[in-house]
Amino acid sequence: MQKISINKPASKGIAIGEAFLYTPRRLEADKGLISHKATSRELGRFKDAMASARRRIVELAVNSDIFAAHVEIADDPFIMETVEFKITSEHKNAELALEETSDEISARFEAIDDEYLRERAADVKDVCGRVMRRLKGVSGSGIAGIDRPVILVADSLMPSDTAGLDTKLVLGVITAEGGATSHVAIMARGLGLPAVVGAKGITDMVPPGAEIVLDAVDGAVVVEPDAATRELYQAKARDFGEKRKALAALSGLPAETTDGRRVKLCANVGNMRDVRSAVPFGIDGVGLFRSEFLYMESQAFPTEEEQFAAYKAAAQAVPGELVIRTLDVGGDKPLPYFPFEEEENPCLGWRAIRMCLDMVEVFKTQIRAILRASAFGDVRIMFPMVISGEELDRALEILAACKREVEGHGMGYNPEIKRGIMVETPAAVMCARELAGKVDFFSIGTNDLTQYVLAVDRGNRRVAASFDPMHPAVLRSVAAVIEAGHAAGIPVGMCGELAGNEKAAAVLLGMGLDEFSMTASQIPDIRYIIRNRSHAEAKALAERVLDAGSAGEVRKIIG
Ligand code: PEP
Ligand code: MG
Repeated sequence: MQKISINKPASKGIAIGEAFLYTPRRLEADKGLISHKATSRELGRFKDAMASARRRIVELAVNSDIFAAHVEIADDPFIMETVEFKITSEHKNAELALEETSDEISARFEAIDDEYLRERAADVKDVCGRVMRRLKGVSGSGIAGIDRPVILVADSLMPSDTAGLDTKLVLGVITAEGGATSHVAIMARGLGLPAVVGAKGITDMVPPGAEIVLDAVDGAVVVEPDAATRELYQAKARDFGEKRKALAALSGLPAETTDGRRVKLCANVGNMRDVRSAVPFGIDGVGLFRSEFLYMESQAFPTEEEQFAAYKAAAQAVPGELVIRTLDVGGDKPLPYFPFEEEENPCLGWRAIRMCLDMVEVFKTQIRAILRASAFGDVRIMFPMVISGEELDRALEILAACKREVEGHGMGYNPEIKRGIMVETPAAVMCARELAGKVDFFSIGTNDLTQYVLAVDRGNRRVAASFDPMHPAVLRSVAAVIEAGHAAGIPVGMCGELAGNEKAAAVLLGMGLDEFSMTASQIPDIRYIIRNRSHAEAKALAERVLDAGSAGEVRKIIG
């Protein structure tokens, strides 16, 4: 028996069964060049293969947002033009031209320091892989051949692999690659399938055919469990199943403590796909719409009409509030079409609201689109990375100017649109009292707040252990912001990762947080925690936590 500790689960659950190792080999292109005469033949082969792959993707897209995104990739003229250029000007055969194009485009996505966009590399590889199989006359993936219950262990799974999974036979999934927003993670959560992603080296550690336990609750794989261990996990699986049933039964119920304190549970989203998967979790609204994805996935700054269409669709689909955060790029989030000057400290540099206040037309275009969408739902506007009242005043003046413009064009909008800021800089914490007097709500961004309060880079693996939102400096900042917001009579939410942290939920509730906004799949657990304690009890816990002098002490108190 061997127990391997692995990452935080992507989709919770426990599975016990035979390991099925899936390690498909990459289809390599022949590296030889072609004659001038052969170029039109190769071009024709490529176009036929692409057209046939596209037809299949369109069929699959009827029931899947993932494949709807693949249709867009198949239609992207950049892929077609790049392959054509490589065939006609560089005399590469169709397979080689496609392989290079796929590698180049996916490498560009993989270099982006944003997990969501990095995952788009998998989509490009998947679409190109589908075309490659047609060029080579090879049939689909080996996963379709699974004929008995197994736990799938793979280096990575393409979206089309996951779409072909028979969930009666696949009990759980472990992949060496991928993050929390990878397709396999999203698919597994949607199906309630236990899954762990990013388990480096796992395919070398698990022998094919071995009996394994996948503990996607505490993050462990047990290879060849002995009888006692198997029994232990069978019991754990039963308990987990019962808890899940209990959680599902709560889905339509308010997030209310036993003594009647009601809070909002909202989702963080980046696009319509996220909105659609969040709504079934019984959300009170969207506490953070990361509008930057719209910008990062475009080929140029999106126009007012494009943005209006996106925000309007979200406003119509979301029950309750839709908080749209204005453009938050720069720092670790580049734009493919806009060259940012190299900076020594990009996270302290020209980003988010600083950039928008310098590029007023870009800012106004977005604000007008948000205003126009406010005619279609409870749309709210939120400014990121604010550090001063002066900065906020300028943003609010621009908002007022945009209202006049929209009105001047006779377009509908909500003149009372709620305005808020993200509190994610130490300056905003220290000046929370003054800032609260200027806006309608606060939302605490604990990802950046932790980075700036602790002076620990949120994306640097070497200091990842020090990036700790349970540090008293962060928790006391959170408490101070809630107090300042309430003193000014405005609600205070949180949309950083801490809002979905089960260990922190009771403490945040006790501090008086009004809204928890998180990845939608975390909502059932947080709802359960809130509904199963009193506010009085949570308050007492928060007081003890705020007295603790170290993250270690905080953890001892919260368990
Ligand atoms: C945050 O900083 O906590 C936040 C929610 O914003 P982002 O993670 O997009 O910077
Ligand atoms: Mg932030």
